[in-house]
Amino acid sequence: MARLEDLPIRDDLKGQVPYGAPQLEVPVSLNVNENTHRVPLEVAEDIIQRLAKSLMTINRYPDREFMSLRSALANYLDAGLEPENIWAANGSNEVLQQIFQAFGGPGRKFLSFTPTYSMYPIIASGTQTEYVAVSRDERFELTPDFIRASILDHKPNIVILCSPNNPTGTPLSLDCVEAAYEALTVASGGILVVDEAYQEFGSDPSVTAISLLPGRERLLVSRTMSKAFAFAGARVGYLAADAAVVDALRLVRLPYHLSAFTQAAAEGALAHSTVMLSTVDDIRAQRDRIVTEIQDLGLDAYRSDANFVLFGGLDDPAAVWQQLLDRGVLVRNVGLEGTLRVSAGTEAETSAFLKALREVLNH
Ligand SMILES: *Cc1c(COP(=O)(O)O)cnc(C)c1O
Repeated sequence: MARLEDLPIRDDLKGQVPYGAPQLEVPVSLNVNENTHRVPLEVAEDIIQRLAKSLMTINRYPDREFMSLRSALANYLDAGLEPENIWAANGSNEVLQQIFQAFGGPGRKFLSFTPTYSMYPIIASGTQTEYVAVSRDERFELTPDFIRASILDHKPNIVILCSPNNPTGTPLSLDCVEAAYEALTVASGGILVVDEAYQEFGSDPSVTAISLLPGRERLLVSRTMSKAFAFAGARVGYLAADAAVVDALRLVRLPYHLSAFTQAAAEGALAHSTVMLSTVDDIRAQRDRIVTEIQDLGLDAYRSDANFVLFGGLDDPAAVWQQLLDRGVLVRNVGLEGTLRVSAGTEAETSAFLKALREVLNH
């Protein structure tokens, strides 16, 4: 086998390593913020029927515009949106990539507030969009004034606000979204993306940037079925925006990017959204339990509106990460000093994590 450096690879890809958390076989896997509950049997049976039906016509290309899925998503969002306002792709990562393909590119700038989702700079660099990282405060919080000043200063073409923020869990107020949009209008007329991957876990899931869409044609709200919906393996992310934004994304998407199986499975899950989301309350309770018990251990938990908790006060996070793994519990070391991140699992998984953590810390 040749070495990577022997290939005529793009200069900006030289020396890079592929992104991805370790995928290890462990009893308690709490490292990538999945919903650890399985799809309920009644829903699984319906999805299997739908997959079987789509198999019968799998010799044909799927609906390129996936109108039936888009109307199911519009219906799920229940915000008066039309299918024309909805877009979807293989995970919200692909939606984000399409946004950069359409609105970023060489000579254009993307700004986000770090630490934040580590895929953003990778997608930016893949589309040769310049990345501007502005640091959050010491509790990883943002204010409208700070957002406004940063945007006016850097005049980016794309801004992503991650709400709540990964990997810190930090909630974001709608005031911050409004301030960002106003500042972008003045600074560059650029695109504002609000990444609501964890929206359903918020203290009030009805508070969403989707409510700000009317009259803001450069506001894009992205969501995913990978987290609350317990559908990570199906790869379905989506977006709500002005219909013109959707038309822009249709210019860069590959034809038939959503397979017939993906469309059928997603429609099946959405047809049972209440059942599919029935574990969210329990996950939220486990998250709050993690915060409380971690504080009882003398550690520092950051404010979280997501299905995970970033906790600090560790002298040697890498060693704690390994010792937890030795006890069958996989969490995430996101590289922030003194911290680790853990997803809220089932009650039993959360108990196993807390027990292992107490052992490691000798409590
Ligand atoms: C998990 C996550 C996503 C979702 O990725 P998918 O490609 O939809 O699985 C998007 N944004 C953030 C911040 C995430 O943490």
